[in-house]
Amino acid sequence: MTGFFWTQQAADGAARAGVLHTAHGEVQTPVFMPVGTAATVKAMTADAVRATGASIVLGNTYHLMLRPGAERVASLGGLHRFMDWPGPILTDSGGFQIMSLDKLRKLDADGVTFSSHLDGSKHRLTPERSVHIQHLLDSTITMVLDECTAFPATYEVAETSMAMSMRWAARSRAAFVEREGYGMFGIVQGSVFADLRRRSAEALGAIGFDGYAIGGLAVGEGQAAMFDTLEATVPHLPSDRPRYLMGVGTPDDLLGGVQRGVDMFDCVMPTRAGRTGRAYTRAGVLNMRNARHAADPSPLDPACACPACTRHSRAYLHHLFRCDEMLGPMLLTWHNITYYQDLMRDIRAAIVQGRLDVHAAKVRAGWIAATD
Ligand SMILES: [Zn+2]
Repeated sequence: MTGFFWTQQAADGAARAGVLHTAHGEVQTPVFMPVGTAATVKAMTADAVRATGASIVLGNTYHLMLRPGAERVASLGGLHRFMDWPGPILTDSGGFQIMSLDKLRKLDADGVTFSSHLDGSKHRLTPERSVHIQHLLDSTITMVLDECTAFPATYEVAETSMAMSMRWAARSRAAFVEREGYGMFGIVQGSVFADLRRRSAEALGAIGFDGYAIGGLAVGEGQAAMFDTLEATVPHLPSDRPRYLMGVGTPDDLLGGVQRGVDMFDCVMPTRAGRTGRAYTRAGVLNMRNARHAADPSPLDPACACPACTRHSRAYLHHLFRCDEMLGPMLLTWHNITYYQDLMRDIRAAIVQGRLDVHAAKVRAGWIAATD
């Protein structure tokens, strides 16, 4: 099938700059994808998300299956129209919820049955049903259903879990309806065990996907183990397909991930932090609730072009959070997503110009300035 493909434009060490072509537009990689779990990037209008420079967002199969239901989204014209996001959308498969909602689900070899966290109603997710839901949502990038292996896991548990995810990956692939410009990604599992990761990557490569995700990381193993696992995984993935590190991470995680050959990232961190008063800036993480900002007329991040930074002072942002005004979370979410987009844009430019290591050192030196 054509219309969905990734082209590499430049490389610097293991890092790559490229373009992902889809039915809903192009995505420059490396890219950060804001998370829109329930068909909304929390506290942001779709126009605001676009204004940050974001080109692709996430939706979530599990949450949209419960509310409003995939069939309803389909009857309303699909997720793009429903949330006013004509650009590319990637949907989680529900695999992460198999781990995060482990008290509310029953797992078997064929799939998983969730008790809704909302009303206790039963919902069955098999690889085929997850793929069908993502089809109904009209997702640009469908993810295979997998089991996100919890951490820590013994080798035996991680091996059994990974083997099941690989069987589910084959079933997901078989259930995927090919459409021009739409793609499906496989998901590598195997916890922190290098040989399991290699076997998982090779199994997915043999099935053949339009892109390859690395799942089961940022679940408590720590950055060093995550980077080690990336180094053990990436060389076994096809070099002509995009690589997506799921659920990651801090700005430093993104920088380190790109330096290890990752092209795509998503994480709730910038949106969640924004709602609690934490700002990611070129000078590190600042807490706008901190009293030291109360009388500070300076901008949050003088190099940032978002409304929080160009129209308001640190003192005003501090005031909004102290008064629990909803504009505080809105402005800081806007800022944090803008910061993540700027971070990736600058990383991409550095790759194209062959100076990523110098750029990375400079960016990391800037973060040390934070004092909150
Ligand atoms: Zn800003």
